[in-house]
Amino acid sequence: MSASDDARAPTAMVHVHAPAGRVAPLVLDSPHSGEWYPPDFDHAPPRDVVRQAEDTHVAALWRGALAHGATLVEAVFPRAYIDPNRSLADIDPALFADGERWPDPLAPSRKTEQGVGLVWGLARRGVPMYARKLRVAEVARRIERCWAPYHAALADTLDARHAAFGEVFHIDCHSMASVGDVMSDDPGRARADIVLGDRDGTTCDAAFTAIVHDHLASRGYSVVRNDPFKGVEIVRRHGIPSAGRHSLQVEVNRKLYMNEATLAPNAGYARLAADLAALAARVVEWIDARHGGAGPAATRAP
Ligand SMILES: [Zn+2]
Repeated sequence: MSASDDARAPTAMVHVHAPAGRVAPLVLDSPHSGEWYPPDFDHAPPRDVVRQAEDTHVAALWRGALAHGATLVEAVFPRAYIDPNRSLADIDPALFADGERWPDPLAPSRKTEQGVGLVWGLARRGVPMYARKLRVAEVARRIERCWAPYHAALADTLDARHAAFGEVFHIDCHSMASVGDVMSDDPGRARADIVLGDRDGTTCDAAFTAIVHDHLASRGYSVVRNDPFKGVEIVRRHGIPSAGRHSLQVEVNRKLYMNEATLAPNAGYARLAADLAALAARVVEWIDARHGGAGPAATRAP
């Protein structure tokens, strides 16, 4: 993948990795691990500073889940360019040039206040992302080309599994800096190994959060819930437990798998990848039992 290749169709801004073998109603998505920087992303700070926003390697870390029937939706574009985990109203109007007006009502959230809304105004450590004002049309194009196809691919995958199995379990996969920075709600605080976010119990069955929590804790990880990350737009949008749609955000601590300065995988990478694959296997086993011990009989067409 060349950084100068801008001839890709918008559908190539997201990859959907099919299960290997049986299909289970488990869907993973990695919205923040994209490393393809579009040529029109003229960020002001050096690329290595902008890349600190990425959840680098997260899609690859979870790839072992495919062998257990999971489907993985992966963003190709970087979240600093446009963030799939923000609503379309979460825009700072101050990003736009004079005379430019967003056509729809805006509802900037705390994330926009922190410089990390739909379009990031700040790079990590609080450095301005742009040396210029943005045009409304270019942000609209980022939505059309990246945000919308990502959400369509995720929604289509969740809908297909829900239709086939009657319910669907979704893990929204992220990583977090080991220590909160100046832009976070926990500056200077060392974080747990894993943070689970179900927006205080509203985006999935509590039993789903519990099975993930207990499995990871049994492997020796420190696991906390909803602090400092509760889950944002993706689990809010797709997690409707009363409709059999269960979404849980999983944040893994970057120190577990990479050098946070260079983004290079570290000695812990292989163990974490194996543990996440085992987690997927455990979740699928738990879903099978929940569906009446279906086991291989749950291998219905998606
Ligand atoms: Zn993330």
